[in-house]
Amino acid sequence: MSLPRVGIGTDVHPIEAGRACWLAGLEWPGADGCAGHSDGDVVAHALTDAVLSAAGLGDIGGLLGTDDPHWAGARGADVLAHVREVLAAAGWEVGNASVQLIGTTPKAAPRRAEAEAVLSAALGAPVSVTATTTDGLGLTGRGEGRAAVATALVVRSTGAPPVESAG
Ligand code: MG
Repeated sequence: MSLPRVGIGTDVHPIEAGRACWLAGLEWPGADGCAGHSDGDVVAHALTDAVLSAAGLGDIGGLLGTDDPHWAGARGADVLAHVREVLAAAGWEVGNASVQLIGTTPKAAPRRAEAEAVLSAALGAPVSVTATTTDGLGLTGRGEGRAAVATALVVRSTGAPPVESAG
């Protein structure tokens, strides 16, 4: 029997004045975006690491590389869709995932359902999105950057061979 497996992922990016803000798979007009080789979507990147970790497939740096021109400016939802394909090739699919954005801007709550729909479609599984602030403390509180923390559950695809268990 193959048990479900859990994974965790985090990401932090600095905010870059004047850059388009892509977060949780959505564009947020009026907010400054995050610097990064891709679109700087910390929510999508934390989810990516959580899913890869759960499947034992490494992390986003190993998957995409840190300077591969193919992923320059890449959208978070496209990264997640790619991760879904990588998992499927290894005999895994996502059961569900949860991600929390940590930052002061943008206010995510009004667009939570929209973000969850985009991220869930990309991963092919339910994704829950929440957000919090740090009450003005730290790099997120000072508006210097944004962070995200994610967990994910993956299960073996139907018909995939079981993975070896340790012990
Ligand atoms: Mg990142």
